[in-house]
Amino acid sequence: MPEETAQVFDLVVVGGGPGGYPAAIRAAQLGLRTALVEKERVGGVCLNWGCIPTKAMLRSAEVLETMQHSAEYGVLADNVRLDYSAVLRRKERVVKTLTDGVASLLKANGVTVVDGHAQFVGPKTVEVVGVGEAPLGDGGPRYNAPPAGDGRPLARLEGRNLIVATGSTPLLLPIPGIDLPGVVTSDGAFLLGEVPRRIVIIGASAVGAEWASMFAAFGADVTMVELLATPIPAEDEDLGKALARSFARRGIKVQTRRTVSEIAPAAKGRGRGKDGPLRVTITDPDGQRPTQVETDVVLVGVGRRPNTGGLDLERAGVATDQRGWIEVDDRLRTNAPGIHAIGDVTGKVLLAHVASHQGLVASGVIAGHDERMNYRAVPAATFTHPEVASVGLTEAKAREAGHDVVVGRFPFTALGRAQTYGVTDGLVKVVAERKYREVLGVHIIGPSASDLIPEGVLAMHLEATLDDIADTIHAHPTLGESGMEAAMVALGLPVHTSRPRRR
Ligand SMILES: Cc1cc2nc3c(=O)[nH]c(=O)nc-3n(C[C@H](O)[C@H](O)[C@H](O)COP(=O)(O)OP(=O)(O)OC[C@H]3O[C@@H](n4cnc5c(N)ncnc54)[C@H](O)[C@@H]3O)c2cc1C
Repeated sequence: MPEETAQVFDLVVVGGGPGGYPAAIRAAQLGLRTALVEKERVGGVCLNWGCIPTKAMLRSAEVLETMQHSAEYGVLADNVRLDYSAVLRRKERVVKTLTDGVASLLKANGVTVVDGHAQFVGPKTVEVVGVGEAPLGDGGPRYNAPPAGDGRPLARLEGRNLIVATGSTPLLLPIPGIDLPGVVTSDGAFLLGEVPRRIVIIGASAVGAEWASMFAAFGADVTMVELLATPIPAEDEDLGKALARSFARRGIKVQTRRTVSEIAPAAKGRGRGKDGPLRVTITDPDGQRPTQVETDVVLVGVGRRPNTGGLDLERAGVATDQRGWIEVDDRLRTNAPGIHAIGDVTGKVLLAHVASHQGLVASGVIAGHDERMNYRAVPAATFTHPEVASVGLTEAKAREAGHDVVVGRFPFTALGRAQTYGVTDGLVKVVAERKYREVLGVHIIGPSASDLIPEGVLAMHLEATLDDIADTIHAHPTLGESGMEAAMVALGLPVHTSRPRRR
């Protein structure tokens, strides 16, 4: 295609996930002529393969578990059972509603959406080519960096500025047997047509833990294998231990400080993978004390790699680090003038809301505004049963950073609303600095943790103190009172728990 046919835009965004689509909408609102190129469906991993479909299915799991225990609430329900294909259909409906909504928003804001795979052909120019067939296995791993372009030229776009928002893809661990049928990534797990009778999940961080929670609720026999000392190892240790106890009560077998060294067909002549069982060898990190577990499915829930393959970044002179993540400054600028990068592909914080915020900041910067990223108050949520959410420093990290730390813990058992709700598993933990009582971190495990964390995020954003939270009037009876009570505990003035010993 001759170069002179390139359409010129103020901004070309490559990738329509939760990073790219808000960036495009904001840029258009700020008066920039904007194009967005997407090779699959707008919404990216988050709406199609991540945040939204998992949460839709976890909601089905929650409804099922609530109905199984409905007699505790005086509600009698007979013959409660799961229709997994209906769970999947509901998930698809939710995803479609939201992805259609994103497409409408892009249109309404005047963004030109171009379907296809973008690759750089010059410092400021991308060629959009047709998309090859996605190598979606029947339940096998989905290497979503492809579908790479199939080479059919569709359009050539020149941007005075560009934003690379191409996201990330599951990384397959170098374990013998990882490519056997029946071994899936998180993407492949959506394609299982039925709940596996037995499943081994490698990695107990957010993605692995959510699938464990869901499949356990749906009746699977779940084993999790985690290299570190607790599940959700990035979270405060108190939360990891509480989740491990809660998972154990629900029959999930969590093997910590253990790793998977091999996956093999369980028995000759009985088929392989999803046609037959797999044998998973689990060892200590140094390879000692091997044990074996027989399973129907292995889900690899750890590791992501950047989607930079097929982009021809070198033609634009964009630098990556050794592992391929695109390096950016606090204004999301790469080393190449006029080219920004946002979201997972930057390898900063692999969360949808961070991608979105980066997208808004990048578009603001391109429009000439003085905006920067600040990663101090970034919340994280894991939608297990019970839910987990946090912001800021864990107690251990606050101590490591040299703070004189004061901590307040408040259990949901002591909270009126949690008792009325019938969900009392968990606690709120506030970490603060002793002298000025500034809040350094808030950590929650329990009912609606993900909806409770914004108060902690705002506290961190405004550099609030324990007194600010404790002195704020909270409606009663609400789950939100738990943060206020935890702040009171940290201040040594608890109302609804006994006074802790001074530390
Ligand atoms: C199972 C799972 C659950 C998750 N749950 C949560 C959660 O609850 N909360 C949360 O905050 N985060 C969650 N995440 C993480 C979240 O999905 C990602 O952080 C987020 O999607 C990153 O957004 P992004 O825009 O950077 O990239 P992506 O969402 O990966 O979007 C990138 C887009 O770019 C397109 N693309 C790639 N290359 C090209 C190209 N060359 N040309 C054109 N288009 C291209 C892709 O098709 C894709 O649509 C979850 C992830 C997984 C896997």
